[in-house]
Amino acid sequence: MKLFYNAQFHTIKEKNDTVSAVLVDDSGYIKETFIHTPQIENVEKIDLHNNFIYPGFIDTHTHSFEGGLYSLSANLENAENLDQVFEILAETKPVSGKIFAFHFDENNIKEKRFPTISELDKIFPEIPLILRRVDGHACVINSKAAKMIDWEKPLPSDFNGYLFKRANGKASNWFHKDLTDDAIIKAYQQAANIALQNGHTVVHTMIGDAYSDIKHYKLIKENSHLFPIEFIIYPQITNVDIALEIGSRRIGGCILADGSLGSYTAALLEPYSDKPETSGILYRSDDFWKNFIRKAHKNDLQVAVHCIGDAAISQILNCYETVQSEDPKDLKHIIIHNELTSDEMLDRMDRANVSAAMQPMFDRLWAGKNGLYEKRLGKDRTSRTNRLASIYNRNILLTGGSDWYITDLNALMGIDAATRIHNEKEQLTPYQAIEIYTKNAAILSGDEKRFGTIEKGKLANFVCLKDNILESRSIKDIPIHSVIV
Ligand SMILES: [Zn+2]
Ligand SMILES: [Zn+2]
Repeated sequence: MKLFYNAQFHTIKEKNDTVSAVLVDDSGYIKETFIHTPQIENVEKIDLHNNFIYPGFIDTHTHSFEGGLYSLSANLENAENLDQVFEILAETKPVSGKIFAFHFDENNIKEKRFPTISELDKIFPEIPLILRRVDGHACVINSKAAKMIDWEKPLPSDFNGYLFKRANGKASNWFHKDLTDDAIIKAYQQAANIALQNGHTVVHTMIGDAYSDIKHYKLIKENSHLFPIEFIIYPQITNVDIALEIGSRRIGGCILADGSLGSYTAALLEPYSDKPETSGILYRSDDFWKNFIRKAHKNDLQVAVHCIGDAAISQILNCYETVQSEDPKDLKHIIIHNELTSDEMLDRMDRANVSAAMQPMFDRLWAGKNGLYEKRLGKDRTSRTNRLASIYNRNILLTGGSDWYITDLNALMGIDAATRIHNEKEQLTPYQAIEIYTKNAAILSGDEKRFGTIEKGKLANFVCLKDNILESRSIKDIPIHSVIV
């Protein structure tokens, strides 16, 4: 047994609950917690040097495979012009015979546009390449890739490499498919290491997409001993039979009710402020969702769906309400992102026992004066984005996530952003922000008996910080001393 001592353990069981030592048994479970460090013989004593300990962070929404894979590839986050993009690409090594680039944002590029297919062909004439937009909802590919992908309908003769909607999904799916098992495991290992370095001990990850196979599910399960953290897996499919066959307890993820605000594909109840001729797109019919969600609910699967705009959230919420009133269950179906909501919608979420897996960093990136939200939605609707406090205060189960690779896999950044939402009324307190990355996240996956707080009988998953989150002026900059799993 091990005695961890000389630290301020924030249990997150309830507010202001701290202990100063924790005894852990040989299988990694907490045997006892102590207010005063006890004198115990015959245990290994581990001095935590006066640091601040919290339950290991849990990110409830990532695309860890893509994140891991892309972090082995080209990151275009800091490119300022297309020449820099081309330089970074030229130095990129293929993974499994393909070139991947991500985090491209044409708005941050001097030329304000995507590269063209011929520009990409000059650098990689013979190796297929995909360059994905920062939100994942659009991409550019080169000619080699265009030739190799098996399209549903032929590309236009003046194809310039740019793809969105279904064709974007088709292309990214082709790139992620047919990688060797080794490359896939390597990507998840890379993801697990990045997660651990940033204080996480559990990460929810979306796998595949609505068109792809569920090979990853099996690979992660079979190789879980290779990862230093635990993955909670979401098969991103809409075929309930397959989810049941592989033994999953949940289905969905970023299966799309709508697209993104950046590309005007998020579905809104009122038109876009800067493009009044459109209100975005509902990707699937009401009937499609109703049938899918009803079948999943009947079979006790937790459902998760990507919804950005208020029209998309209403569409999915309607289905959740229907199944919950027909057959009440505690499955905690999830609306992922849940960006634009009204009070009335939140009240309905509460009544229908729906949970919200949200990304506080989206506010940091897109809210604020002249930000993307204000452009697309106007001031009034912007005040109804990322309503963390309104959701938390209704007792809707709220959890935090990064949507990595969209934002960094970094819970301290998320906690920091949650406490500093642009609309002050929607800010969480630091304690509440910790809860959405620990205790609440464990409840979401039904693992509240195993982890999420520092309590007797739970796994000793700890993140050890050099400063106290509850008193820090810059949470995102707190150094991580160590992580204990
Ligand atoms: Zn999504
Ligand atoms: Zn996502």
